[in-house]
Amino acid sequence: MPETLHIVSGDLGGNNCRSAVMTFDDNEPHLEEGTYRSWKSECEEDLGIVLDRGIGDAIHDFHGRIAGASLAIAGPVDDHRIALNAPNIRCLRSRVPYDLAAEMSRRFGGENIAGNDLEVACAGEMEQGALKGKKWAMLENFGTGYGGARLFNGVAVAAEPGHMWLPNNEARCGCGKTDCTEATLSGGAIRRRIQGMHDSGAIVIPAGLDPCAFADQESMKGTEWAVNFYTGIARDIGDIWGSNLNNCPLMTDIVFMGSFLERAMKIEFFRQQVREAMLARSMFSQQHANVGIYEVSAPRLPSGESLGPLYGAASVWKRLHGERHHETA
Ligand SMILES: [Zn+2]
Repeated sequence: MPETLHIVSGDLGGNNCRSAVMTFDDNEPHLEEGTYRSWKSECEEDLGIVLDRGIGDAIHDFHGRIAGASLAIAGPVDDHRIALNAPNIRCLRSRVPYDLAAEMSRRFGGENIAGNDLEVACAGEMEQGALKGKKWAMLENFGTGYGGARLFNGVAVAAEPGHMWLPNNEARCGCGKTDCTEATLSGGAIRRRIQGMHDSGAIVIPAGLDPCAFADQESMKGTEWAVNFYTGIARDIGDIWGSNLNNCPLMTDIVFMGSFLERAMKIEFFRQQVREAMLARSMFSQQHANVGIYEVSAPRLPSGESLGPLYGAASVWKRLHGERHHETA
């Protein structure tokens, strides 16, 4: 009998480094109960300390052989090894490009990979969430930024939809280019646009209220400016999703996440406008009539944190290294 395969999955974001030991039962990863840990890494500048506490301690504390680690980061990763950019991760941002996989191998041994956080979230939805059994789909994240991943024939692929071209008076994007979609449609950009309406005197945001929460509230009440503003955003998102369907007509499902879109999609007219604009943009009206649009649904902790990225990091590791492991086991 081959040895049971255990790896450590990690998710290094701007605030926390989360990890857990994952055990494979055939091809399916299972989270080893009691091994989940979340460590506040936001103030730590030393990457070595973050890797040791985030990943190393999990390996050390586990009674069993760990074959390697799979660490997701908020930022693009080349070849599942090299962090290219990590503006929100304090211990990493000044070191990029940085070969994270090599550094983990040096510290911990075994086979190690790094991945993009939305790539692994997409893989996690395929393991445990809305994309179970799906092969062609996309994951869209409208939080502070706009990111995403694609499921191409069952393989989760990191994407950068936030830096697609959306002409808008040369609006400047955080990446340094102009007219990126993210500069118009990310949650952060939408918040700035609402704040801009307040600053110009067109609307009045009550003191202490978050601009997006105010716009949500006013659009649900039917206030004209808010309904018009959100209708425009919904139609832009629908046009972008429809454009993606035209690029890859085999897509059957769209899953979304992120603080802005999870709230906005609960508003009925917003949801309807997204769908209507998406279908109007699609050139395959029959094929796309029933495209599913869902919120991510991988298991969450009581704190609300999704475990999808940890399942997904394990499944990406297995796809890249699992075959080799079975041959040598
Ligand atoms: Zn950009």
